[in-house]
This record gives sequence, C-alpha cells and structure tokens, in this order.
Amino acid sequence: MNNTAHQILIVYDNNTLKGNLIPAWGFSCLVILPPYQILFDSGGDPSILLKNMHEMDIDPEKIDTVVLSHGHGDHVGGLSGFLRYQHRVTVYLPKSFPKRFKEEVGLMGADVEEVGGSVMIHPGVYTNGELGGGLKEQSLVLKTCQGLVIITGCAHPGIVEIVEHVRGLFDEDVYLLIGGFHLMGKSPKELREITKKLDELKVERIAPCHCSGDAARGFFKQYYGDNYITCAAGLVIEMPHPNPDKPEK
Ligand SMILES: [Zn+2]
Ligand SMILES: [Zn+2]
Repeated sequence: MNNTAHQILIVYDNNTLKGNLIPAWGFSCLVILPPYQILFDSGGDPSILLKNMHEMDIDPEKIDTVVLSHGHGDHVGGLSGFLRYQHRVTVYLPKSFPKRFKEEVGLMGADVEEVGGSVMIHPGVYTNGELGGGLKEQSLVLKTCQGLVIITGCAHPGIVEIVEHVRGLFDEDVYLLIGGFHLMGKSPKELREITKKLDELKVERIAPCHCSGDAARGFFKQYYGDNYITCAAGLVIEMPHPNPDKPEK
C-alpha cells in the first residue's frame, strides 16, 4: 500500500467486488489520511471484519481512530473483535449510545469520546455530530482540496438531511457522498426528489452501498453517469489531497 496515498477502502458490505472477500450485511470502511488511519463503523461480525481487513492488506495495529455512526449491530458488531487486536484507539461514538456499550469499549482498553455536536477528530477530519430524532447517527466529513467527502453509516436521519446539515457546517461543495443511504422501498418519484435535492446541495460524486437499495443504486447510476461509483467491499477510492486549513463558516 502506498504510504502517502489518501484513500477510502470499503472493508465490509453486503456486496463485494472481489471473490476473496466475504459479503455480509453491514458496513465498515477505512480512511487512510497519513499519519492517521480511521475505521468508520465495524460491520456486524468480528471474524468477517478481520478476514476482509487481512485480505485487503489492512493492518489493524495501524488504525488509531474508530468512528461509530450509530448503534445498530451491523455497524458496531465487529468492534469487540477489532479491539482485541488493537485497543490503542480512540472511539468516537454518539453520546446517546447505551452506557453499558461505552463502558465495555473502555474496559477493552480504548479511549471513548462521546460526540454531541460537530467536532474535529484530526485536521481535516470531522464528525457532523449526532443527528436524528429517535436513533441518533453521526457521519464522517473529510475536507479535501476538491470539496467535502461525506461518509454515512445507514443515513437514518435522512440522506438529504445529513448533507444539508453538513453543508450548514462547512460551506463547501460535496466532492463525494458515500455509504449507506437507507433508501430501500422508495418510489421512483421519491428517488427523483432526493436526487434533485442532492443536486441542489452540489453533490458531485455518489457511491451508495449497504442499505441504499438496488432500485436507488440503479437510479443514481443512470443519473450520475461517470460520477456514479459502484461501491462494495474491496473498493479503494483515491481521494483528492486533504485541505484541513480552509476556515470553517
Ligand atoms: Zn442502521
Ligand atoms: Zn446498517
């Protein structure tokens, strides 16, 4: 792996691009921004997470940060297995997570950071803070020289609402929107509305996976053309250069 590359690697998804990876319901990706490696979500099954990491030449010991989007098992279930390999990490989780979960992460040796509002995790790397009414969820935001990269877990608060929220925090266009969009069962009319809004929010590239739904993926593929990225485990996205210095709104 190129040490200076800025990359997103999809580690865990219901679909895979490579035969040596195990597909399973859930989501996890690794963000490589030297000197940092950030694991966003952990999939549902520890052994599948670690197996896919191994197949993708990811060394768990090099990961220093974990960000958990929300408390569903298909996003946090792999964490315990990962922490058994590497507990010298800081885990950023929504403060609304159950007390017991936070305590267990601490007992495994990791530092726990409870997220309420938006915070900077590393230079150029942010969480937008926990969003949503019932089940709260945070997304990961990366600032690059070509705009924002937004990574979502399941997008339970709504994919449009998340992008609107992030655009309210950082006045920059969205270079890439990637992750679970939670659009299963949406009608073509609803998908058209959502696409129109994402367009208005200046979302340039799109990479829906996990709970986005096949119909939504097909719709976005047609609409975004070359700016649609087929997203599944095994995908490696080369990112534009980070741009941590641009002042926030
Ligand atoms: Zn979920
Ligand atoms: Zn999910």
